[in-house]
Amino acid sequence: MKTLGYCSPLIPPEWIAAHGFKPRWLPWTREPGLIVIRPGRGLCPFAGQVADAVRVGVEVDAIVLTTTCDQMRRIAGLVEHEATLPVFLANIPVTWETETSGNFYLDELQRLGRWLVALGGTAPTNSQLVSLWHRYEEARRALLAIRDRMSAKQFTEAILALRSGDLATPSPENQFKKLSEEEENSSEKLLAGEGNQSEKLPSATCRTRQEGRGAGGEGGQFGIPLAILGGPLVPQDFDLFDLVEAVGGRVVLDATDAGPRTLPAAVDRHRMDEDPLAALADAYFTTIPDVFRRPNDALYRWLAAEIDACGIRGILFRRYVWCDLWHAELFRLKQWSSVPLLEIDVVGAEGSARCRTSGRLEAFLEMLR
Ligand code: SF4
Repeated sequence: MKTLGYCSPLIPPEWIAAHGFKPRWLPWTREPGLIVIRPGRGLCPFAGQVADAVRVGVEVDAIVLTTTCDQMRRIAGLVEHEATLPVFLANIPVTWETETSGNFYLDELQRLGRWLVALGGTAPTNSQLVSLWHRYEEARRALLAIRDRMSAKQFTEAILALRSGDLATPSPENQFKKLSEEEENSSEKLLAGEGNQSEKLPSATCRTRQEGRGAGGEGGQFGIPLAILGGPLVPQDFDLFDLVEAVGGRVVLDATDAGPRTLPAAVDRHRMDEDPLAALADAYFTTIPDVFRRPNDALYRWLAAEIDACGIRGILFRRYVWCDLWHAELFRLKQWSSVPLLEIDVVGAEGSARCRTSGRLEAFLEMLR
């Protein structure tokens, strides 16, 4: 089976799978041997890492990118110019409230489908698409049903696995077991004099959203509940969750592109039976709040509801230095937010980043106590 790499939540993995391709979320990998090339000045590290993943041969046969920001357009041009892989650039309208925009997006999905067929895929029948959609939808709903029993990091990792076609619902119990083993190894390392204090996970841990809600006030034994907001995360960024814990906070809400914000809402089953592709397009195009949308008020509505539901006491606004879209949103977010916001700007594979971020986090948490 051929594999199609993608990195935008606006591309439905069930549409890819319906054409006989395996969807593969990029650059979601911790594979040994993957070279992370230091991003060049002016290049968003996420976009750069997508390009690197393609260059170093992460196993994909083709890639689909979107026009949701200039950096992604740039990467599409680069990959196409180097002729590394067949690349499809999907045009995603920034306006989304009109029928014309919705039809345009639907046309783009159909164009993507024709391209996949030209690459050796097969055009799905309506019933094949519905059947696949059911499987993905069940996996999404099953995951959401156990969200309160998972940490933000576990939930995000499970979403990314789902986007790569892993439809098995993770069990929180197994995830906890895995985490306990990781903690044990970490303690053993520390006892053996390996690692450093900042790598240690505190013994009393707030793993879940439920516990996050109970951790209001002073943060108690669980740490101060925080949200992380911003664009996409690359695999190395997941260390940030541990870094927050090491200085006395807890990320209980991942509001980045990797987290639950970018899951589509449930599709009306009758509409799905009548016209599955139109229903799918509608769900992905109109229900995923994102920063590039115009207007993007839905992002703020989603965030307000989640801040309340998770008992969030502070927002970590994490943005890449060269990301204009999120940078432009910073001022409005500061004016809007009911809880303090810390800006963490990230350059990429920078040696001093961990120390710098850790210092800023400590100061922020001190202020929240
Ligand atoms: S982080 Fe910003 S610049 Fe990078 S791909 Fe996302 S929107 Fe584009």
